[in-house]
Amino acid sequence: MPLNILFSAPVADWADYGPHLKAALAEAGVEAAVSPECPDPAKVDYIVYAPTGGLSDFAPFTRAKAVLSLWAGVERIVGNPTLTQPLCRMVDPGMTEGMVEYVTGHVLRHHLGTDAHILGQDGVWRNNIRPPIARERPVAVLGLGELGSTVARTLAGFNFPVMGWSRTPKSVPGVTCHSGEDGLEAVLRQAQILILLLPLTDDTRDLLDARRLAMLPEGAFIVNPGRGPLIDDEALLAALDAGRIAHATLDVFRVEPLPPGHRYWSHPRVTVTPHIAADTRAITATRVIAENIRRGEAGEPFLHQVDRDRGY
Ligand code: NAP
Repeated sequence: MPLNILFSAPVADWADYGPHLKAALAEAGVEAAVSPECPDPAKVDYIVYAPTGGLSDFAPFTRAKAVLSLWAGVERIVGNPTLTQPLCRMVDPGMTEGMVEYVTGHVLRHHLGTDAHILGQDGVWRNNIRPPIARERPVAVLGLGELGSTVARTLAGFNFPVMGWSRTPKSVPGVTCHSGEDGLEAVLRQAQILILLLPLTDDTRDLLDARRLAMLPEGAFIVNPGRGPLIDDEALLAALDAGRIAHATLDVFRVEPLPPGHRYWSHPRVTVTPHIAADTRAITATRVIAENIRRGEAGEPFLHQVDRDRGY
């Protein structure tokens, strides 16, 4: 009997994902019918899930063996009381590449002071302000998981002195790794460019509050492609208004889409990008989904299973 797989993501994504998912399942040797339609939840074996697909009650999916998220961040589903099945988050090589490029682009932009030249080309030859070289600019990455550790290694490859911070002690080549509350303070005090790649959990919500923002060196830059609520918005706006934080590149927000009247849109020290730092790529992500379904059927442990207690 072929497996029944429900694709529970925005309908518009089906045209991209459908053919790749079918091909990846065939490649993995999994016989399955995949559909964005769900006439009978009790007959579904696996759910491919995005929070934007509208599914919130998992109770009727009595036969489902796992929920396979297309998103890396699972804060919108991890505490769902109807979800009793194993939950796996997305670790997608295509997404990781996208994140490395997004962060590297914005870090180099801030490091080189590119905005001053792009926005200020007014016929005046100002050659008195020159950027330091990377080895003179300490950067820090909060979160050393799939994305953060790859970003940190890449920035170390540009010669930035890179510090990283995680919940448990980590070792990443070329990166000075810290953990715990003391470790966070040590990292923040030196970080001229701070990158947030933490998941949103009870422990990380509002992590960057007024007290911790004040630990950053004067004129620091922030790049946040992690999650909006990692930062206390009012505290950040106050630090930006005062010029203590030189600029924040923000990709994620407490409310998305960011409401039209939000101060971030018009703040001269803020760059808003609309949650596009690193999209899941259908061609690579469907291989991860197919491999997890193969594992489920073979009785092998799932890849990237979320720890519900930890929240990520
Ligand atoms: P991951 O592999 O689960 O890594 C999470 C990292 O954060 C780990 O190093 C973990 O520490 C650390 N961490 C978690 N809680 C912590 C705490 N309380 N204190 C200190 N460190 C803590 O996640 P990932 O795949 O790298 O993704 C990170 C996040 O990026 C996602 O959760 C999502 O929110 C965001 N994201 C955004 C986009 C976008 O387009 N903007 C795309 C993809 C992902 P340990 O190593 O000790 O466990």
